[in-house]
Amino acid sequence: MMAAKRAPKGLIDQLPEVRGRYSADAALAKLTWFRVGGPAEVLFRPADEEDLKKFLAAKPADVPVTVLGVGSNLLVRDGGIPGVVIRLGDAFADITVDGNTIVAGGGASNLKVANVARSAKLAGFEFLSGIPGSIGGAVRMNAGAFGSETSEILVSATAVDAQGRLHTALAADLGMSYRHCSAPDDWLFLSATLMGTPGDVGEIARRMEDIRDMRETVQPTKTPTGGSTFVNPPGAKAWELIDRAGCRGLKRGGAMVSEKHCNFLINTGTATAADLEGLGEEVRRRVFEHSGVKLQWEIRRIGVPAGPPVKEFVEEAGS
Ligand SMILES: Cc1cc2nc3c(=O)[nH]c(=O)nc-3n(C[C@H](O)[C@H](O)[C@H](O)COP(=O)(O)OP(=O)(O)OC[C@H]3O[C@@H](n4cnc5c(N)ncnc54)[C@H](O)[C@@H]3O)c2cc1C
Repeated sequence: MMAAKRAPKGLIDQLPEVRGRYSADAALAKLTWFRVGGPAEVLFRPADEEDLKKFLAAKPADVPVTVLGVGSNLLVRDGGIPGVVIRLGDAFADITVDGNTIVAGGGASNLKVANVARSAKLAGFEFLSGIPGSIGGAVRMNAGAFGSETSEILVSATAVDAQGRLHTALAADLGMSYRHCSAPDDWLFLSATLMGTPGDVGEIARRMEDIRDMRETVQPTKTPTGGSTFVNPPGAKAWELIDRAGCRGLKRGGAMVSEKHCNFLINTGTATAADLEGLGEEVRRRVFEHSGVKLQWEIRRIGVPAGPPVKEFVEEAGS
């Protein structure tokens, strides 16, 4: 949903009238888990679905649009994001239960959905309680943990495209695989219909507690981070490859490879997005040199750099 070119000054003046809120030069660092990155040229918080659809249908076609969930899988570069960044608020966070299904808004938090499922005695949603994102982000990333992933409980999703047209697609038609969804890039997920199975509330609650305990033991959950940095390559664990390549604790500026879980990068307090991205590329280089595996980013890096772009690691021909 992004174009590299920054739109001319006074972008808000070119945008349609909306009932929601536009903010120019809006800080995004506080809206992402890494707590780094530059501003959105314009941040748009739509009042509701109608407002969003009208905005998309009426905005100039050359204005790039980027969708933000709760920023738990995003590294926003230091120069910020040109165009309009859309953040879904409370009007997109409804959660309703109907029998074994739950319809959740794209802006609903995974944890709330898991809590609602527990109260409704529906099993299958427990894994969501440990993934700190929104339902829209869970569908886009096919988020998963502890042997389950979003595609397994997803029945269908409703989205709006860059022209404001509505689409509803069955999960089977969304091409979901490990941390991937093949829905068109310009689809913004408005809601998801998810299905569970009747379960015992005590067992569901215990599984959610186990998940919380496990995460607190193995993940740096109290430090700004973006979760798993790289996808696990087929048949291997990214963290093991990173550990064996000697990268645990590796630093660049204020960025560091977590000592606790070395597939997590952390912001020790002073990191820039360039520090984090540069460190990630250094990890890729060292892992490739050590094991011949080229790690792929799971974290989505978006926006423009403030200085020279971070050099992407590319293996030398014949290496
Ligand atoms: C401590 C920690 C632990 C984590 N553990 C896990 C884990 O166990 N498993 C796992 O899978 N992930 C994990 N993550 C990563 C992250 O939580 C997931 O990828 C999550 O699904 C991202 O959701 P989000 O709302 O934060 O999306 P964002 O990070 O804001 O965005 C991620 C992508 O989704 C897109 N997106 C967001 N909302 C929408 C929408 N409504 N419509 C269309 N596209 C949208 C964005 O444009 C972007 O491309 C972890 C992250 C952290 C910080």
